[in-house]
Amino acid sequence: MSKVLLVTGGSRGIGAATAKMANAAGYAVAINYQSDKAAAEAAAQGLKNAIIVQGDVSKPEDVARMFDETEAALGKVTHVFNSAGVTGKSSRLVDAPLEVIRQTIDINLMGAIYVSREAVKRMSTRLGGKGGVIVHVSSAAVVIGSPGEYVWYAASKGGVESLTFGLSKEVVDEGIRVNAVVPGMVETEIHARSSGDAARVERIRPSIPMKRIGKPEEIASVAMFLLGDESSYMTGATVRVSGGR
Ligand code: NAP
Repeated sequence: MSKVLLVTGGSRGIGAATAKMANAAGYAVAINYQSDKAAAEAAAQGLKNAIIVQGDVSKPEDVARMFDETEAALGKVTHVFNSAGVTGKSSRLVDAPLEVIRQTIDINLMGAIYVSREAVKRMSTRLGGKGGVIVHVSSAAVVIGSPGEYVWYAASKGGVESLTFGLSKEVVDEGIRVNAVVPGMVETEIHARSSGDAARVERIRPSIPMKRIGKPEEIASVAMFLLGDESSYMTGATVRVSGGR
């Protein structure tokens, strides 16, 4: 069966690195983005059997359309890497606008739920599908909690881990594996663009046991392992990739 990977938030950072690595390994790839089409086009440049798909993961109708467009262009989705995420502007909880908190939960947690639900509908052998693999992106923030920065983001990713644990058991007999990669601090634009605190990276670096920031490719290589048959006995696992943090 040919491998078709839908990467939510595939236009930048960890998603883009995973799309590129997967494509080099033979996966057809659909690169989802929300607003930055130029970034999505850049991520798809040079890839074979790759498309870009606009869609907001916090909208269930967009998520269904993303799967439809991918299937129309590349065939049945067999793998999903759910990387779309935001932190919201960094602040203490009491100072954060409710809209920022709600949007973060909507994208990170509701988005992961919508994407999982749509994937199961199409992959479940019980529903006529051929099985598949879902890999979510959590965060080391789940256990650190991100005080003073974005505790709502940490909470949203805690939800993603619970989703991973529960759904993996729910669909284990339906040919679907569900796992999550759990990155520590990674060099992407999320810090400047989403949290609005680009200096955060250098501030936190000394507290990382390896004393350096991870590269998107160092998360992508673990995502590839979780997507691939090499991890065939793994489901419901959360794999921390954090330089020891
Ligand atoms: P990034 O470089 O900022 O990329 C974020 C991606 O998500 C972009 O492709 C963006 O596309 C997309 N996106 C944002 N909102 C979306 C929405 N509503 N619908 C669809 N796509 C949306 O971020 P990154 O650092 O690679 O982060 C990827 C994942 O890793 C996130 O879930 C993040 O929470 C997690 N993570 C990152 C780090 C880190 O240090 N970088 C650490 C732990 C976990 P547009 O620009 O078009 O909106």
